[in-house]
Amino acid sequence: MKVVPVPCLSDNFAYLIICEETGEAGVVDPSEAPPVKQAIAKAGVKLTAILNTHHHWDHIGGNKGLLADHGNLKVYGHKSDAGRIDGFTHGLDTGDTFTVGRINFSVLHNPGHTTGAITFLAEGCAFTGDTLFAAGCGRVFEGTMEMMYASLNDVLGSLPDETRIYFGHEYTENNLRFAAEVEPDSRDVQDRWAEVRKTRAAGRFTTPSVMAEERRTNPFLRCAAPAVKAGAKKADPGSADSPAAVFGAIRGWKDRF
Ligand code: ZN
Ligand code: FE
Repeated sequence: MKVVPVPCLSDNFAYLIICEETGEAGVVDPSEAPPVKQAIAKAGVKLTAILNTHHHWDHIGGNKGLLADHGNLKVYGHKSDAGRIDGFTHGLDTGDTFTVGRINFSVLHNPGHTTGAITFLAEGCAFTGDTLFAAGCGRVFEGTMEMMYASLNDVLGSLPDETRIYFGHEYTENNLRFAAEVEPDSRDVQDRWAEVRKTRAAGRFTTPSVMAEERRTNPFLRCAAPAVKAGAKKADPGSADSPAAVFGAIRGWKDRF
């Protein structure tokens, strides 16, 4: 399996996932068709599937254009998003599996950003859309804070340390600026922030991230840490102490940041 990040729009990533044994490929979250078509032509692969993590336009905007060129594509998304994803063919839920070429995918439902948000897993990689970002997480648009907390910490929180996280937007530098506000004394956050500034200054992207790094530096996965609890109190002095309440307080702070 080979993963090719395809920058789209101003800060989105689509990902071309290639089965090197069969030459077939799937694309995660094609924001727009032209850059994805270019990546397909450059790699010389046959597109057979679209994998949509959720229904937002900046993740499905290229579905129609790809379907126009490639016809018979399988289009995967959460079963509840059947009416919200162009060309939808296969509804999925936690535990469901499918293949692209000989690559085996499985699915985790992680509602919060949207009610139908899912993560695709294959060969130690997780394609998380707008649920888990490098050093951050998506806004809670359709679910509740409790739901998003559980999706990040219980569902995605079960992924092994070495899992590579392929996220939906290049927001990493700003996310770390916020993480440094939440945990001003964290050496791990400062070190990662410095490294990401260098990466971005060199014109490179920060995808993928690694789960172990997220556990060390992503405040939204660290709601039980004393420093993050203290950060939540700064943002919302009346907030409760449970990890889900801490999550709600810092997510609200990030929305205003
Ligand atoms: Zn979104
Ligand atoms: Fe998005």
